[in-house]
Amino acid sequence: MSSVLRIALQKSGRLSEDSYQLFKECGIRFDYGTGKLKSVSSNFPAEFLFLRDDDIPGYVEDGVADLGIVGENVAVEMGRPVQTIHKLGFSKCRLSIAVPRGTDWTGIQHLEGKNIATSYPNLLGNYLAEQGVRAEIHEISGSVEIAPSIGLAEAVCDIVSSGSTLLSNGLKEVETIFRSEAILIARPDLDSEKQALADKLLFRIKSVQAAKNNKYIVLNAPNHALDQITALLPGMKSPTVTPLATTGWSSVHSVLNENEFWENIEAIRAAGAEGILVIPIEKMIY
Ligand code: ATP
Ligand code: MG
Repeated sequence: MSSVLRIALQKSGRLSEDSYQLFKECGIRFDYGTGKLKSVSSNFPAEFLFLRDDDIPGYVEDGVADLGIVGENVAVEMGRPVQTIHKLGFSKCRLSIAVPRGTDWTGIQHLEGKNIATSYPNLLGNYLAEQGVRAEIHEISGSVEIAPSIGLAEAVCDIVSSGSTLLSNGLKEVETIFRSEAILIARPDLDSEKQALADKLLFRIKSVQAAKNNKYIVLNAPNHALDQITALLPGMKSPTVTPLATTGWSSVHSVLNENEFWENIEAIRAAGAEGILVIPIEKMIY
């Protein structure tokens, strides 16, 4: 196979580190760093382009890149005809409306006839239309949060994660209009060789994500409690149970979703389990 997948990543910003880390965990090696615009992987048929995030949906639409990683907020705002092939679970944030802290907020109707500053005129425009609110949208490309204090707008609609930027600009978040995370996008017309490579990459990404959400559990259990304990540890197929050197005891090995682990741990201990080890999993193939 001679095809090479071209993958567009953000050069430097809030998506970059986690994107690079994801490929590392997928076993795909490439160099990145200061000033580099392009890099070829040494062990996977892929070439990486390092770009401003705003340019990524357009490059993927035009076929300059086959795949790209971008925030869902940017992809939806730009409305390019690219396909979302997978949600990646990092760079989580929300697009919210915020108003000066002293505002007596009574609901979205408060914005009727007001000026709202944002870098997301389409997402905001659609939301206001759905809510039946007519307002003036001022599109600005950055530092949106200072708009109210300089008299440009009565409200803003901007990306929030912790809310500290809003707070330090005297604003309060009143309405979330969109929730975003990093997504893997693809051009809609990948040929069959590139589609096969994209599928190979996706398989690796899913294995890495599954491993992150699961833990390997090892514990000692008295034999009389084995049925009760193994019922709480279903595993990928079923738990492994092997006898310990001490009579009447067994070692139980299983895989458990981390949330389920915390929910079940009290019941597992109450049933008599001892010496519980929780071990990270590197890759998980279903
Ligand atoms: P570029 O220079 O590439 O144009 P940028 O300044 O436009 O970068 P970043 O601030 O790096 O963009 O944000 C990139 C994406 O990361 C956003 O579109 C959003 O999806 C997500 N993001 C933004 N702010 C946060 C945050 N505080 N926490 C987590 N994710 C965020
Ligand atoms: Mg940008």
